[in-house]
Amino acid sequence: MATEHQIFAINPEGKLVAVADVANGLACGCICQICKDALIAKQGDIRAWYFAHQGNAECSGGPETLLHQAAKQVLLEARAVLVPVVVIGRSVRGEDGAMRYGKAIRPPGMLDYTDPEAEVDHVVVRPDVQIAASFGPMFVEIAVTNPVSGDKFAKLLELGVPTLEITLRLPKHPGPDAWGAVRQAVLHAHENRRWRVLPEVERLAAEAIANAELPPAPPVRRQHEFNFGRTAVSLRPGKKWLAARVMTSDFVADPLVTGWLTRWGGRFDASKGVWWFRLEDTDRLRAALTTLAQRIAQHSPAEQHQRVLEAYYQAQP
Ligand SMILES: [Zn+2]
Repeated sequence: MATEHQIFAINPEGKLVAVADVANGLACGCICQICKDALIAKQGDIRAWYFAHQGNAECSGGPETLLHQAAKQVLLEARAVLVPVVVIGRSVRGEDGAMRYGKAIRPPGMLDYTDPEAEVDHVVVRPDVQIAASFGPMFVEIAVTNPVSGDKFAKLLELGVPTLEITLRLPKHPGPDAWGAVRQAVLHAHENRRWRVLPEVERLAAEAIANAELPPAPPVRRQHEFNFGRTAVSLRPGKKWLAARVMTSDFVADPLVTGWLTRWGGRFDASKGVWWFRLEDTDRLRAALTTLAQRIAQHSPAEQHQRVLEAYYQAQP
């Protein structure tokens, strides 16, 4: 990428250096690793801190390679790196046959480590940096241009060593403190890292199973029925409204019941044959219907039937 500024170079002693580490201009003594052209350290102003080629403007100087190297060096010198959250979920069938679900969580935070080593040869894979964490060895992969390839990922999974991947992106003009920018991005940035192989999987899985509990019961769309002799009212809560449906095995519904439904604020919907109530009135309506049911239970069947007949004849044209 020719647009990427080269902010690191190799000095005559073979050491990785940032622009601010060397003398300004050609005096820096750095040579491009790729085309061997002399490099000019540009310490011009706040924005332009980078290495330019003296003659070969076509060469990009491989800034990605050197940035990758700088990131590894930062990890080798540090002793803590930010790791993202780990969440492991497990399901288990209880003795009662019901499935239980649990999870174990490790929040994000700085992970202390020791013994960082670059490019340790694990035969199948050579991680960028290997570190020793409290739970054992761990790999850190730094992606400058490309994420960890599917092939390498498969090998990492096979090894089962926890692996953190950091995607390194720097500001276009990191300014004079290139090392500071790399340290911030490698060690502390939240948004650029993810676990490729999770740590402590077995321990967290056991923890998740120990935490497992029955899922919360789904909200029950309860239907309630109230009986008033040969008239009954069923309440069915919907999303916004409560429907009270009146059923009867008589000529017409007990007028005492339908009369009260209207008096309690129900809006009769002739097309559906229901009274609509506001959902928040459910408890009040249930209490009222319970009381009414007790009252009507005091009436003899003859009284109830008489009332129904009167209502029936009144309703005739
Ligand atoms: Zn070059």
